[in-house]
Amino acid sequence: MPYTREKQVALEAVKRAAELCAAVRAEMVGSSFVQKGDNSPVTIADWGAQALVCHALADAFPEDAIVAEEDAAALRAPANAAILEQVTHYVQRLEPTATPQTVCDWIDVGGKTLAQRYWTLDPIDGTKGFLRNDQYAVALALVVDGEVKVGVLGCPALPLQLDEPAAKSGALFVAVRGAGAEMLPLAGGAAVPLQVATAGNNVRFVESVESGHGNQELQQRIAQAAGITQPSVRMDSQAKYGVVARGEAALYLRLTSPKTPDYRENIWDHAAGTIIVEEAGGRVTDMYGKPLDFAAGAKLQDNRGIVVSNGAIHAAVIEALSQA
Ligand code: AMP
Ligand code: MG
Repeated sequence: MPYTREKQVALEAVKRAAELCAAVRAEMVGSSFVQKGDNSPVTIADWGAQALVCHALADAFPEDAIVAEEDAAALRAPANAAILEQVTHYVQRLEPTATPQTVCDWIDVGGKTLAQRYWTLDPIDGTKGFLRNDQYAVALALVVDGEVKVGVLGCPALPLQLDEPAAKSGALFVAVRGAGAEMLPLAGGAAVPLQVATAGNNVRFVESVESGHGNQELQQRIAQAAGITQPSVRMDSQAKYGVVARGEAALYLRLTSPKTPDYRENIWDHAAGTIIVEEAGGRVTDMYGKPLDFAAGAKLQDNRGIVVSNGAIHAAVIEALSQA
């Protein structure tokens, strides 16, 4: 089977990164973070997770490019030595050879330049969810010739079944192009194949918690036009893609916020989720029905808005958007 080794390496790397994130959140969430220029919080866990994943990828696939969200510029500043110490401490629990220097170097393996074959990583997707004890994900995907070939999502806080209050939390989603999508418990256990909701079944929709990351008023109207009557489930991160892939929601809408009309989505916010939903039988396009273009750059330059569905209702959603 193609990409067998890539799948194994990616799964193992995301699993370890998710473990680091869960440990940081349990032990120190909120107590230590700095602000990036764009005001999004960057935690010890973002840097630690990126160091672990980039190190594992560089080790297994030294030729491959990695396009990752963070870099170590701030961490290398002498004023942030104490933060670097903490990042190193957490990385060392999983990678005992780590030093402050190698941690920075591993993080910076994740440059911003795409190649014919590249990995894209969001070490913590949904940093805001991470900080308020909600959902977040470690998201990793391999893109070859502009097509996502492998995707892994680690969702430490996601219940294995959304509607089962007693369900354990911690889900790993994985998909390989042409080979289907599956979910494994992060704690270990058997993989189960994923299948999107069939038409007419379980027709609720998901959207971001952050109102500034979408257009909730329009999302509500479009979902209704597509026959969805229940209120949305609001959730941070690409965990939303996982919920659509396992059939718990028929639709995920992410329409451009009127407050940021020129916003372009990052490739690492969608690559892993996209293949997981597609391989579970669903569809992912922009709001005009165009496929997401993962060859255009670190941003989805030529796409506006994201529509993720079970496939069955996709055309109706795009039609409703064209009338909106
Ligand atoms: P979510 O958890 O689904 O709300 O998405 C989190 C992601 O939203 C972050 O990784 C950011 O890259 C992204 N983001 C930041 N600003 C915006 C915006 N104005 N519109 C859409 N997405 C955004
Ligand atoms: Mg993100």
